[in-house]
Amino acid sequence: MRLIRRRAYASDHLNRLATLFREARRPIVFTGAGVSTESGIPDFRSPGGVWARFDPREFTYQNFVGSLEGRRRYWQLGRATYPLIRAASPNAAHRALAELHRLGRLDCCITQNIDDLHQRAGLPAAAVIELHGNATRARCLTCELPYSRDELHAWLEDGVEVPECGRCGGVVKPHTILFGEAMPAAAVEEAQRRARAADLFVVLGSSLVVYPAAYLPIHAKRAGATLVIVNLEPTPLDGEADLVLRARASEVMAHVLDHVRAGLAEKG
Ligand SMILES: [Zn+2]
Repeated sequence: MRLIRRRAYASDHLNRLATLFREARRPIVFTGAGVSTESGIPDFRSPGGVWARFDPREFTYQNFVGSLEGRRRYWQLGRATYPLIRAASPNAAHRALAELHRLGRLDCCITQNIDDLHQRAGLPAAAVIELHGNATRARCLTCELPYSRDELHAWLEDGVEVPECGRCGGVVKPHTILFGEAMPAAAVEEAQRRARAADLFVVLGSSLVVYPAAYLPIHAKRAGATLVIVNLEPTPLDGEADLVLRARASEVMAHVLDHVRAGLAEKG
């Protein structure tokens, strides 16, 4: 009996979220590590795996730009983690978001993820605001020459320990934002602007503990948006949310997409 009631309750919440997506003028989503882990990409906060061999606190921006040894350690880590990102495929959450955008039911996706999976699922790059950069790209810090991470990874596999710029010898740095590095100002401003303009702000798979990104739901809520949080664990902002779903982003968004499609079919 209790199980039946709980299922009814969960499906009621899912339907409410789907209706919000159908009716919103400017729905936006904010995605975090939970959306990537559903594609098999390990989160540095989760125990075990590749991070067991490395201490995340060592990989700061200051260590990277400040010393050759810092860069050598970073590229050791990158050599181990980048193939995991490259081998991952978009999941049902990524695919649903790309399709909702195509249907005109998603303004943009603000993401803390660096894996390029939103774009690989078909969401246009212009609709993805990356707060922590993108692991598939790199550039020379001196002359700005861009590098693809695939190319740099091939260098590492060929025995290069610390890639240097082929044009000027400068430090080549992944586009990923490191610990201790400021988030890209243009992306942060754009995210704040979009959050304030949204009438529906949906958090997907973020524990909302990494500031200042975690302020975005508050910006949206104070500007009048309905705030929804979809996360397997409680977050510090659950009390501010209009709706909280303790569920996987992929299951929730697949349901939302079905609901939105059914609504569009009814309209004919
Ligand atoms: Zn250069």
